[in-house]
Amino acid sequence: MLDDEFPEEVKRLKPRKVRFSRDVERFLGSAPSHQMDDKCHPRPALRPEPGGQNSICCAACGQTEYLSRGYCRCGHYLHGQIEDEYLAWERDLRGMHEIIARDAERKVKPLRWLPLVAMTFILGPLLVALFSTTPSLTTFLWWLPGFAIVGGAALADKFIARHKAESAAFLENADFETFLLVRNV
Ligand SMILES: [Zn+2]
Repeated sequence: MLDDEFPEEVKRLKPRKVRFSRDVERFLGSAPSHQMDDKCHPRPALRPEPGGQNSICCAACGQTEYLSRGYCRCGHYLHGQIEDEYLAWERDLRGMHEIIARDAERKVKPLRWLPLVAMTFILGPLLVALFSTTPSLTTFLWWLPGFAIVGGAALADKFIARHKAESAAFLENADFETFLLVRNV
């Protein structure tokens, strides 16, 4: 019945071969075949390496998750967790600095008295030398422990002050980026 409806020229037409451009055909030719698809198994959900800088251990499920993800795959809010960890780290840092500062103050206090002790070694022989008619070299040898005490006290004071200043500087510059670099993952 259909044969009667079409003219003779149409009946003689062969089905046209659909041609794509060469690039498209090359692309289609390189596409994996259906058989290859059958061999592909679904990959397990990727997770970051534990301990990596880009990873975070989810407090809810204990799985390692990417740090950039707002939520863990279990639904736990990871950004909130990392903020809590940052605040705890900063609090610990302040506490540590307070201990260092208090410790430094305690150590520096006796050092302030040392120059006074040293003065007795310096001024004593000096007075003896001034009022003595025969000043001798041994009188001035008493200066040596005096200067040693003054120098030692100054060095110790400097060392303690530097330790305290380093702690203060680290606290001053401690921001979220520092925390990300130094945190234990
Ligand atoms: Zn989780």
